[in-house]
Amino acid sequence: MQARKWNLNSRQLHTVVLLCIGLVLVGVGLSLALPGRSAPVAFEGQRAFAHAEVQMAFGARTPGSEAHERTRAYIADVLARHGWQVQQPQGELLGQQVFNLLATRPGAEGGPWIILGAHYDSRFFADHDPDPALQLQPVPGANDGASGVAVLLELARILPLHDPAATVTLAFFDAEDNGGIDGWDWIMGSRLVADSLTELPDAVVILDMIGDADLQIYLERSSDPRLAAEIWAQAAALGYADVFINEPKFTIMDDHTPFLAREIPAVDIIDFDYPYWHTSEDTLDKISPRSLQIVGEVVLAWVLTQ
Ligand SMILES: [Zn+2]
Repeated sequence: MQARKWNLNSRQLHTVVLLCIGLVLVGVGLSLALPGRSAPVAFEGQRAFAHAEVQMAFGARTPGSEAHERTRAYIADVLARHGWQVQQPQGELLGQQVFNLLATRPGAEGGPWIILGAHYDSRFFADHDPDPALQLQPVPGANDGASGVAVLLELARILPLHDPAATVTLAFFDAEDNGGIDGWDWIMGSRLVADSLTELPDAVVILDMIGDADLQIYLERSSDPRLAAEIWAQAAALGYADVFINEPKFTIMDDHTPFLAREIPAVDIIDFDYPYWHTSEDTLDKISPRSLQIVGEVVLAWVLTQ
């Protein structure tokens, strides 16, 4: 009889239960290890946010600080873990040492070359703080610095799983944010990178201040209009037309500027309506995983169409 066959004693039953649990765990493990097989791999805003938390825990990433150096080591470590070829070209500008990080992943033969960039440094002085005493403190830089890096680091995980046709370079620029301060200027790291290119990329996309919980990204006026139109159309197709607003607003000198100067199509994705800009209030609570998610999804989808 069937019932007889399954008449197990308690020790045998215990073994069977353990076997079943084991099989379920192996199944879960396999589905996690092979994400591309079953479901498309999604950009995860929460994972990006965790990268912002790490940077903020180091402290303000002002050039020359320990936090600045630790951030660079952290970025290099994450990139290497996801199989990117990392270069750390050092340069000098205005007598300052500038430490950029570039990570490249080759695409298909004949595919385009795209640079996705963000600055990782923070500003020495929160000179827009309403409190004069706090104006001498560094900008914590949750949105202005950490947010763009956070999205790039999550893209570092995601892009290899999608294996895009484009060759992608993730650029982490130093010394973007210290213009107007004695001995420094804006966009120093990206200037060194743009000026050193012997071969020109097909497109450069900069992410800066894209973590604001109240995210509205207008078209930046100096950006390449055709490239911007592509990215804003991609955002609209994903249902984010209310975040990527298809109207020009600010003109901003940012890390895309030195590439434009070399006649490379370049876009600055930036939400410049940020009341905590260059204040001591540019802290983690002002940025949201959801905003990082939206920008990451849009950039990922755009890269995959290239
Ligand atoms: Zn700034």
